[in-house]
Formats: sequence, structure tokens, C-alpha cells
Amino acid sequence: MSCENPTAEADAIMPRKRKYDKSRTCVKCKENAGNVVVRHAVYCRACFIPQMTYKFRRSLEPYVNAKPDGPRRTALKPTGNLLVAFSGGLGSTVLLDLVNRCYVSPDPTLLTADGGRDHPRNERVWKRVHVCYVECCDVLLGTKDRTEEVKNLVEQIQGVEFISLRIQDAFDSSWWNSIFHEDSNGDVVVDLSDEMLPFVTTGSSTQTPLSAMKAYLASLPTPTALPTTLNNLIRVLLQHTALNTNSSHLLFGTSLTSLAVSLISNVSQGGGFHVKEEMQEEWFPDARLAKNSKIGSVRLIRPLKDISVKECGVWAWWSRLRVIGREEWTWPGAKPGIGRLTKDFIRGLETDYPSTVSTIVRTCGKLSPKGSTSGQCLLCQRPAQEGVQAWKARIAIRSHDDVALAGTSVPDPPGHALAPLLCYVCHTTLTSKGTRAAPALYPSHTSPSVGISVPLWASSYLLGSALHDESSDTGFVEPVAFSGGKRMSQEELRGAISEFILD
Ligand SMILES: [Zn+2]
Ligand SMILES: [Zn+2]
Repeated sequence: MSCENPTAEADAIMPRKRKYDKSRTCVKCKENAGNVVVRHAVYCRACFIPQMTYKFRRSLEPYVNAKPDGPRRTALKPTGNLLVAFSGGLGSTVLLDLVNRCYVSPDPTLLTADGGRDHPRNERVWKRVHVCYVECCDVLLGTKDRTEEVKNLVEQIQGVEFISLRIQDAFDSSWWNSIFHEDSNGDVVVDLSDEMLPFVTTGSSTQTPLSAMKAYLASLPTPTALPTTLNNLIRVLLQHTALNTNSSHLLFGTSLTSLAVSLISNVSQGGGFHVKEEMQEEWFPDARLAKNSKIGSVRLIRPLKDISVKECGVWAWWSRLRVIGREEWTWPGAKPGIGRLTKDFIRGLETDYPSTVSTIVRTCGKLSPKGSTSGQCLLCQRPAQEGVQAWKARIAIRSHDDVALAGTSVPDPPGHALAPLLCYVCHTTLTSKGTRAAPALYPSHTSPSVGISVPLWASSYLLGSALHDESSDTGFVEPVAFSGGKRMSQEELRGAISEFILD
């Protein structure tokens, strides 16, 4: 082997894996020369397009009807509208194109190949299709506002409606009140210095939504917590938008590659209990919010979950899609968080060993978390694992203060503590002791106070709860548990924190 160029030299030392297995001929039609290699298999363009459309529909259509379909398909009849989450990134750009060409303005070139009797071309599947974009530039210094650019791109598609939100809407009572017709303007302030997260309710907030949002982010303990928190806030904002637009389905452009990244990085941050939800979840909103909606639940589906980021790139290239791109969510100057490190690792793995990435996702798909669910986490709206606080109290003494106070302090009753209403990840994120994000994120920010406001879905619930304590039995709805509609009783709440209570 010649050693004239450095690549050849590297190959001589450690032979690179060949990109494809056998020949350069398409594995599907066995005629055309291949144009693209997908996990060692060569495809021509004519075979790639229907193959990808098939994978997309296979991940979505069995979950469209209220009752999941068996192998024999019936016509697609969702109970509500469709909401597409759009970030400007490659995955969501491809997702929007597929949704448009399969269900909004059916494209005959896509649909003839795998049509059939129940073809979506016959009747529009979702009556209304909304596309929602959540802008984060106001909380991340140095990032660009892409709302106009996204709006222009989405409005080129006939038959979809554009909704634009800003991340601080999570703290904006005018947004909340306008969609849920509430007129509560109270605020809930949580004390982060205490692991039980006691809170007080106050009159209307003096902070702007943006300053409340910044204070919330400034309290985060590690660089890793920033993308996790933003992702959760965006997802829950979208869930409430879906409820408000009567959308029974909410789609995300998470590719196989991004899914592998989020699964691994979530598990490494203690989110193992939510492995199933990372892939697919069904959100049952609090009955108080659902009462004005035509839909009982929102299905969150990731129809690109079997399609790698590379296949998305090929699709975007061949379909001449414009990809706006999205910002990286990092603290300026911080070491990369777990999410970033996992992403680099998975991307590298995908280049050299493409099948490994789908193995990660398949393996995670087989995991089922141990332990039972005790309702829905107030912050991230995902199932909360039973007895998290009790378990945490058993396994760790996290500060000297805990030891010193153990014999003397009596924690706040469950009615005024947030901790029993949170999942493990959210509780850990709020209470971990690390360097707070404030100096890196907001150099001019005045030193973070110990009290922060919580997003509106949480404060609205807690305000309802506070009212309940003082007056009657009506008006307050406990969170409905994820499965079986079980409600979390006061006894269970108390059980969850029993280790903290000294009778
Ligand atoms: Zn072919
Ligand atoms: Zn949570």
C-alpha cells in the first residue's frame, strides 16, 4: 500500500471499515447504480425515496387512530388536529416536508409507490395542521431571533397555520390566561435552598416573564441542565399548545441519531424512568385544563425515529429543502455538558459503525423501568416514580446541614412543598449543588436569589391547591396519573415524604 498521502497511511495502520458491504448496485431494485449508503446497504434514488416515506408512515400511522391498529389497517381517523413542532433544524425540516407531501398537499410522486386502498390521498387526515416554533434567543445571549425566517418558510406551505411562541411564555400569565381562560395572576415562589422545595404563593408577580425565565435558568446547577431544561420547557409549551388547538397528535422531528443521543444522555442524568417517554408518550392533561378541549389526550410521536440524520440530510438535499438551522444551547465558556459529549460520541459512532446507533434505540425500547408511577411530575409533565424523595433520603446525605438539622427540623407539610410533586430528574435539577449558571449566562444578572418562580402549568396548579387549602373542596384537581387514571392521594403524597416527617 502506498503511503503517499496521510489517509492511506492511516488506513495502513488501522484499516477503515468499507462504507458498503457487497457491490455498488442498489440492494432493492438490483439494477440501478447506488446513490446512497444506508447502514452498509446501497440504495438508488428511486428506491431511497419510497423507502424513507415508508419508514416515516410506519412510525406514525399505527398511532393515528384512537385505538392503535393491528396489522390490518383501517382508514386514518384522528380524534383531533395535528401540531408539528418545528425547530428550524434538519430533522424538523424533513418532518414538515413529509407531513406536507403525505397529508397536507399529497404528492403523487411519493404516494404512488406505496399507495394502496387506505391511501391518505383520498381524504385529508387531519382537518387542521399547525406548525409551532418556540424562540429561545431572549434567554441565550448572542443567539439570533429566527422567528421571521421560520414564519416565512412555514407560510410557503399551503394549508398549514403558523404559531410562534417565545420560551418565556412559560412564565407569561397573559399567554396562559389567553389559552386557558383563567384570570389568576398570582405567583408561586419556590425556595431552592431547601430540598423539600417549600413554596409561598404571592399576589401578581412584579417580574416580567423574561426576568422570571432568566432567574429560572440562572438557578440551574450544571451546563448539562441547560439543554435538558430548555427541551422540557419547549415540549410542555408545545403540549399546552396542542391542547389549545385541539391537536390529538404532536410530532417531533427527532431522528434515529438524535433519539439515541437523548436516550443515552437522559439515562446518564438519572432519567432512566422516562426511557419510554423519550420515544413515544401520551399526555393526559389535568382535567381542569382539558375541560374546554375536544381532545382527552395528546400523543407525542417521533416519526423519524427509524431514520438516521444522514438519511435526513440526503432527503433534504434531493428535495431541495432549505434548512434554517438551530442554535447550540450551551453556557458561554462552559465545558460541554453530557448532552454535547453524547452527541459527539454518537455522531462518531454512526460514521464508523452505523448499525450501533439503531441498536442503542432498539435496546432502550426493550427497557421497562422498575417501580410504579405516582402521578405526573408538575414541571416536566412526565410520569413521576413513586417514593423518589424517600429513596433519595435513604441513599445520600448531601450536605452537612442535613445532618445537623436532622433532629430538629420539621419539613413543610406536603401542601406547601414542591418536592413530592416532582420526578427524580426535575427534583435533582433544582436541588443539585453545583456552580449556578448565572455568571456564565447573564454576566450582568444580580446575584440569584434563592427563590424562583415556576412555569405557569406548575404555578396554576399550585395556586389552585393553595385556594383549596383555605376554602372549599371544589376547584382543585389533583394530577391524573399517567396510567389508569389513578390520582395521587394526600396519603400517597405523605408516604412519599414520610422519611422526612418526624411525628
Ligand atoms: Zn434501486
Ligand atoms: Zn419532571
